Amino acid sequence: MNLPAESDTTTGHVGLAWSHEFAALGPDFFTELRPTPLPSPHWVGTSSDVAKLLGLAETWLRSDEALQAFTGNTLLPGSRPLASVYSGHQFGVWAGQLGDGRAILLGETAGGLEIQLKGAGRTPYSRGGDGRAVLRSSIREFLCSEAMHGLGISTSRALCITGSPAHVRRETIETAAVVTRVAPSFVRFGHFEHFSANDQEPQLQALADYVIDRYYPECRSASTLGGNPYAALLQAVSERTANLMAQWQAVGFCHGVMNTDNMSILGLTIDYGPFQFLDAFVPGHVCNHSDTQGRYAYNRQPNVAYWNLFCLAQALLPLIEDQEIAKEALESYKTVFPAAFMARMRSKLGLLQSRAEDADLIDGILLLLAKNGVDYTIFWRRLSQAVQNAHFEPVRDLFADRAGFDQWLLSYSELLPLDDQALAANLMLKTNPKFVLRNHLGEQAIQAAKLGDFSELQTLQRLLEQPFDEHPGHDAYAAFPPDWASSIEISCSS
Ligand code: AMP
Ligand code: MG
Repeated sequence: MNLPAESDTTTGHVGLAWSHEFAALGPDFFTELRPTPLPSPHWVGTSSDVAKLLGLAETWLRSDEALQAFTGNTLLPGSRPLASVYSGHQFGVWAGQLGDGRAILLGETAGGLEIQLKGAGRTPYSRGGDGRAVLRSSIREFLCSEAMHGLGISTSRALCITGSPAHVRRETIETAAVVTRVAPSFVRFGHFEHFSANDQEPQLQALADYVIDRYYPECRSASTLGGNPYAALLQAVSERTANLMAQWQAVGFCHGVMNTDNMSILGLTIDYGPFQFLDAFVPGHVCNHSDTQGRYAYNRQPNVAYWNLFCLAQALLPLIEDQEIAKEALESYKTVFPAAFMARMRSKLGLLQSRAEDADLIDGILLLLAKNGVDYTIFWRRLSQAVQNAHFEPVRDLFADRAGFDQWLLSYSELLPLDDQALAANLMLKTNPKFVLRNHLGEQAIQAAKLGDFSELQTLQRLLEQPFDEHPGHDAYAAFPPDWASSIEISCSS
């Protein structure tokens, strides 16, 4: 359908001003369409932090007008909804055209943030899907977006979730929900792959220019890589992705579906599906029950990211024009990832300066954690407290192999800054979270929400927004997972 043309910046009474720069790319990049309404919407959750980011008044965010707009039942004044087209590699195989099958971009605010409704109905890219998202997966996406932000990890944000009694068929009948997601851009590697695979070079270039001009302007004046701005873009994306992988690995986050269409061109964590924060440290852990080959196992993520960047490089090759330069741009991943990972792990250990011995110390503890199946988050938090109190018994108790741990502790003590133990502990307590969104915690919030009780979700959200704080009285949320946690099966079904 054709929507009335909007001026470049339109301010509605809501207070949102729009710039719609993605829409300016033209119709080869998207289809304009309205969200499909859902009956009897209700609020499930909101983020004050994201509201502030968008300049939205909290009182308005509680209004029926906001509820209807963020369910997709009415249009925010000045918004210009569209679904974008992209392609991608899924589980290592070229999947051809995909696109926003259930996400509808309302537009881009003058503040440079795109607002998307996920689960707002079918689009021309739905491919047999219903365009909907269920309450369960929407709560997981909402909580994890805000949890990742709380952890200081680049991510799309979530403004709110609304729910509806409308039925959605998955393995069983569930109810519908809509998550309002916010990010500077939802452009994916797959957007580039799409135009490249279809030999649409002018569109490929327009997209690359759009991304460079808005998000990577420094690429225009790059003096390396033959002064090629598209190679500079590839390098910048490789570096951001490398930094993101270092953060995921260090915190024990498994994404679960690292297809190229789920890879952000800005190096953000996007498209939360069957993700998981590790409970016990199992390097080969596969969190997605649909991933039967274990392609996206925790310890494979850094290599998969590189593989995905290789696909992006292939897609950009018509613009870069020189295979050697493209390779060189990509190569930066191989130095940035290990350096960034080491830096994160040093912080986790409270090591204030880098030494040659650090690598062995890090390998040593990861090996011990794996061998003893130690809970990853609890280990790091207890180690932080042990350094703070100079009392290592509670962390030692986590290991069946006490002798192995004692030996490691000996080498660790030698590297710890004796004169600056307080500084080290301080760094560790700010690096090693007390609270992460474990599967069973998400599950408890989901079960309560299904019964109309959103207090669990709110409590969890509050803890995850400040995951490094102690939050007295909430130790149960930082405890070992219950036995039933291992039987939770999270698949691509969402
Ligand atoms: P994902 O693996 O969740 O990132 O989804 C892969 C592709 O399938 C994307 O193009 C999604 O938009 C699309 N998709 C997933 N679920 C649905 C759905 N329920 N309805 C329409 N499209 C969907
Ligand atoms: Mg996706």
